[in-house]
Amino acid sequence: METRYIFVTGGVVSSLGKGIISSSLACLLKARGYKVTIQKFDPYINIDPGTLNPYEHGECYVTADGQETDLDLGHYERFTNTRMTRSNNITTGRIYQNVIEKERRGDYLGKTVQIVPHITDEIKRNVKLLGTTGDFDFVITEIGGTVGDIESLPFIEAVRQLRWELGQNALCIHLTYVPYIRAAKELKTKPTQHSVKQLQEVGIQPDILVLRTEHDIPADMRKKIAQFCNVSPDAVIQSPDVPTIYEVPVKMHQQHLDDIVLRKTGVESPSEPHMEPWLEFLHKIDRASDTVTIGLVGKYVELQDAYKSINEALFQAATYNHHKLKLVYIHSEKLNDDNVASKLAGLDGVIIAPGFGQRGIEGKFVALKWCREHDIPTFGICLGMQCMVIEFARNVLGLTQANSTEMDHLTPDNVIDLMDEQKSITNMGGTMRLGEYDCRLEPGSRAAKAYGKTEVRERHRHRFEFNNDYRQRFEEAGMKCVGENPKTHLVEVVELPDHRWFIGTQYHPEYSSTVLAPGPLFLDFIKAAIDYKTENINNK
Ligand code: GLN
Repeated sequence: METRYIFVTGGVVSSLGKGIISSSLACLLKARGYKVTIQKFDPYINIDPGTLNPYEHGECYVTADGQETDLDLGHYERFTNTRMTRSNNITTGRIYQNVIEKERRGDYLGKTVQIVPHITDEIKRNVKLLGTTGDFDFVITEIGGTVGDIESLPFIEAVRQLRWELGQNALCIHLTYVPYIRAAKELKTKPTQHSVKQLQEVGIQPDILVLRTEHDIPADMRKKIAQFCNVSPDAVIQSPDVPTIYEVPVKMHQQHLDDIVLRKTGVESPSEPHMEPWLEFLHKIDRASDTVTIGLVGKYVELQDAYKSINEALFQAATYNHHKLKLVYIHSEKLNDDNVASKLAGLDGVIIAPGFGQRGIEGKFVALKWCREHDIPTFGICLGMQCMVIEFARNVLGLTQANSTEMDHLTPDNVIDLMDEQKSITNMGGTMRLGEYDCRLEPGSRAAKAYGKTEVRERHRHRFEFNNDYRQRFEEAGMKCVGENPKTHLVEVVELPDHRWFIGTQYHPEYSSTVLAPGPLFLDFIKAAIDYKTENINNK
């Protein structure tokens, strides 16, 4: 079938969850057998979010093909179990970069290069790029920011043009917020009306409105909004807060969001979405009564979005293990030998988080020493794995000055070091080891058992690596390098076989963990944490 293009815009305030609505619609369309992809346009000037601090933009997500992207792409993958690519996240910076490169090449043949048509054409080209591959029935394009922002205007203008060009093959969903004024005990529709007006002023009539709300919006109020905004009453959908984001597709289906999209884009679909596996996951969430408590040791504890994919992977793994997840954030900067016992008390497992730079690193060593000596299930991810190696070098191998050259470039024992090809790099953007690489796991290792196979591919985002000069000493002392890249022999996984569950991965397994295909290492880690908890209870 001809590709249909669905645009998702937002108004009133940011953080309404356009990404979750886009993902939920994609999830429903996919469950009806359509091939769907989701794309995000971010209005900022950075080429990609790779150079952004997590305080600015939460987690940086990485696609299998090695693009550093917005964290919404993580939702897209988790909800659709489909891989995103570098074409799925485009920033203003990238649009301008492409246009300026074309200008320098002389492609514009002497013309003055302008926002309209050159920037808007480049935006349109990037939207259609996904459709022209022939791989997708639906391309959902989420426009970052809120309507009225200066930065998003060229994107909105491109959407306006595309809707005109594509006719019934395009559709616009606008997401707004309906606030509840407690003092007046009233829901207010005015911000929605204003936001739709703003959209209409730039030439876009939304086809569907999704209203985010903390309270049920009565039918007559939805009808009023429909009337004011030129939208058919059945296409005014409410999206109330729900205990888990994974319920949103179900809520959207109950109000026929997918049916309306199909009808409005002229697609005949007699069947209902095949949501059984998804519903089964939701039932598992409901049925879970016991709790598994995991501590996450990192430096962005006040910022939940910084570890988004890890949180979701842990939640999925706990659910599949029939448990609720209690995630305790432990500030690595505040951990020391005196308080570690109390700070880590009551945890069934510990995650040592990824990260960059010196801040909070010593606390990670303190946590790791405690976990290693007390046989607590421990999972180190990327920097967390590197910290496992450094802690082991310092406290077991007796190399007291051991470090990563990222933290101390003069360390006498550079157990974590830069690869040669990284040494000459001066540009920071997009130059880490990024994306999916092969990893061969040692047969019989805990990691291989968790995956149920010895050949895996996982995603990377780092510059520094285990220094193979030290490999033999680590192995002799009990830290085994059980995963390596078959081509480069870079160490990808370390573990302590004598320990209950102590595994570090240089890669980020959280990026590929989805609702319908949860990450095997997370499943196994949570299982070990539950076993540990049960053992502790029985010993009491
Ligand atoms: N800072 C480390 C490196 O660059 C680890 C990065 C990470 O945890 N993603 O190698």
